[in-house]
Amino acid sequence: MKSEQRGVTSPTLHTLPLAPYVSHLTPHILIICLLLITGCGTPQNQPVEFTGPTMGSTYTVTIPVLPEQVSRSGLESQINQILDEINQTMSTYIPESELSRINTSSSTDWISISAQLYEVLAAAQHVSQISNGAFDITVGALVNLWGFGPEPGNQHIPDTRTISDAMQWIGYQYIELQAFPAAVKKRHARTYIDLSGIASGYAADRIADLLDNREIKHYLVDISGEIRSRGRNKLDQIWRIGIEKPLIDRRSVQTIIALDNTGMTTAGDYRNFFVHDGKRYSHTIDPATGWPVSHNLASVTVLDDSAMIADALDTALMVMGPERGYQFAEQENIAALFILADGDNFIQKYTKPFASSLIE
Ligand code: ADP
Ligand code: MG
Repeated sequence: MKSEQRGVTSPTLHTLPLAPYVSHLTPHILIICLLLITGCGTPQNQPVEFTGPTMGSTYTVTIPVLPEQVSRSGLESQINQILDEINQTMSTYIPESELSRINTSSSTDWISISAQLYEVLAAAQHVSQISNGAFDITVGALVNLWGFGPEPGNQHIPDTRTISDAMQWIGYQYIELQAFPAAVKKRHARTYIDLSGIASGYAADRIADLLDNREIKHYLVDISGEIRSRGRNKLDQIWRIGIEKPLIDRRSVQTIIALDNTGMTTAGDYRNFFVHDGKRYSHTIDPATGWPVSHNLASVTVLDDSAMIADALDTALMVMGPERGYQFAEQENIAALFILADGDNFIQKYTKPFASSLIE
């Protein structure tokens, strides 16, 4: 997980020309409020919005009406506390995080871990198994080699020897887990775990749990573009999210999704990449080859009750690509939207369970 973001080509948010119905935007998505003439509410009926930096991007929690018994500042500090704790546990950008300590350890013995790290590692391993290793958190060593990790200014094509060396300690089978007491074991001393493909989804789930526990019935949680929604917005409409057109130099809406009490995450190849000899190398690494994926699938959006599972699945589908990924999503009954580049245009493809969420 990132705590800063580099190699990212998106223009800064405040310079973007925003349509009046877009209330805020994070990577891959635009939060939409469909009251086109008056915008998203008068000053008196503005929803409560908490926002700030997290995981190399931003978070926004929108609550149309805060229940009387819930203190605004108290809730905001609980949200920040949860996000801080997740960063301190799972960030590879924080050298003293729990995950960094495991990554820098060369021990191949059991290492005891927190319950929350166990929960995310177990979910990651589950998605690795069902996706036949397309999603693989041990790809971290390669993410770093290609310059998409915490070390600044290092994006380049590594030499083939360095890639094949690293492949020796990459593979989700190199991670063993134990539930009670929670522990992890690396089968190879150099195995390195990267949770950037799943941790923002987990954070969205944790904040949603907090809001559920505080009996908040209507909310939208957005952690760097990974979403959990419940109920309705201030205008008593179902929450609507714009999925970005996968363009590197502009932000506009490709399609609008209605979110009915669910999680939604998106992975894309058009925000975090570098170009070499006219070819784009993105931050999604195929663990089978050690190279960034190379196909015309520009973004994948997944709906699932768990944003954590959706987040891991969007990365898995990005790795599998347009044909294999689509087949896998159909077979596993995953609600998924694929946006494929076709020359200067984009083509949408979606699975049956996704269809009812598409508004336009
Ligand atoms: P996005 O950042 O576009 O929302 P993802 O959820 O796919 O996308 O997260 C991308 C991050 O996941 C990468 O920056 C990298 O740290 C990590 N990653 C890259 N390839 C894989 C993979 N095959 N399996 C698991 N994580 C990956
Ligand atoms: Mg993901």
